[in-house]
Amino acid sequence: MGFDNECILNIQSLAGEYFCPVCRLLVYPNEALQSQCTHLYCKPCLTYVVSTTRACPYDGYLVTEADSKPLVESNKMLADTIGKIAVHCLYHRSGCTWQGPLSECTAHCSGCAFGNSPVVCNRCGIQIVHRQVQEHAQNCPSVQPQAQQAKGGQDTAAAGTTAAAENEQLYEPGPF
Ligand SMILES: [Zn+2]
Ligand SMILES: [Zn+2]
Ligand SMILES: [Zn+2]
Ligand SMILES: [Zn+2]
Repeated sequence: MGFDNECILNIQSLAGEYFCPVCRLLVYPNEALQSQCTHLYCKPCLTYVVSTTRACPYDGYLVTEADSKPLVESNKMLADTIGKIAVHCLYHRSGCTWQGPLSECTAHCSGCAFGNSPVVCNRCGIQIVHRQVQEHAQNCPSVQPQAQQAKGGQDTAAAGTTAAAENEQLYEPGPF
């Protein structure tokens, strides 16, 4: 998974090439892989494309693991540029006011107390803490990933995109 789009300060000003073609989220520069068609993928998203259509959702170009390189090796300047993008803390909806470059966000968020704020999953109604949201989205008892994957082919890529977009609205701040 890439970075939560809602936590980017000036998302309109960013180039489309900074976003993963599969989940449509901003890639983490230190984890991103650059395919031969120069598009940037999150690791799990690249693995997903390689194991399904093997075609880049942006341009249809063949995507293989062998031809994909870590962005920090293939284009260090681009990795640095993405690392400087101004973002909010991932838990700013729970009240954190931290802002800074994307490259420092992971370190901030791992120690951020707002990550322990309670939120409620709108799908299953279970109360979790904010930092468990991404993990919970994969394990939520009300989500059945097998059903989505069964569609196969190009449809699955589109369904994955929709699911990622829906996840943005699935969580509400919990009772305090
Ligand atoms: Zn992705
Ligand atoms: Zn591409
Ligand atoms: Zn924070
Ligand atoms: Zn849930």
